[in-house]
Amino acid sequence: EQRNRVVFLGAGGVGKSSILKRFLFSTYSDSYQETVEDLYCREYVIQGSDIRVDFLDTAGKLVFPAMQRLSITTAHAFILVYAVTNQNTFEEVKRLWEMIKEVRSNYEDIPCVIVGNKIDLEDNRQVEKFDALNWVYNESNCGAFIEVSAKNDECILEVFKLLMEKAKNPRAKI
Ligand code: GDP
Ligand code: MG
Repeated sequence: EQRNRVVFLGAGGVGKSSILKRFLFSTYSDSYQETVEDLYCREYVIQGSDIRVDFLDTAGKLVFPAMQRLSITTAHAFILVYAVTNQNTFEEVKRLWEMIKEVRSNYEDIPCVIVGNKIDLEDNRQVEKFDALNWVYNESNCGAFIEVSAKNDECILEVFKLLMEKAKNPRAKI
């Protein structure tokens, strides 16, 4: 049986855990609980085959840089998250992508989705959708892009649909 590891990366507080919990448990909380590292294992039947997916939820890099590097090494797919309300977290996604390129020679074959979270806070937006789209599709060519709100359950399912689309690439290992 094949095991596939989907790794969530991004600055602390952008909503990685919230997106994952929305998707897996249909829950959301406004209180912030910092993650060290959590692994959630699920089994799906996709087009007749049993697929095992391990979702790895990580901490922000400043706390555990070695763990972050290891999580990049072991990933079959990436979900890179920033908050549209914080430009620094978008810069962190760019930095993470550079790190992925450095660590994984086959990075072009690894499914990756870039997620801009917290669009319910439109009044506090710092990262324009146009700029994010431009970086994802024109500059980095690193994957698919979507804006979401874990709080309002907006487009959360789409994140995982996009990842599945990317994974259809025969060279992807998921
Ligand atoms: P992580 O550190 O990336 O895992 O971030 P968390 O999922 O723990 O979320 C950090 C904080 O942001 C928590 O207080 C969440 O309730 C809040 N949060 C997460 N997603 C959203 C969202 O879509 N909108 C808003 N307004 N807050 C969010
Ligand atoms: Mg977390």
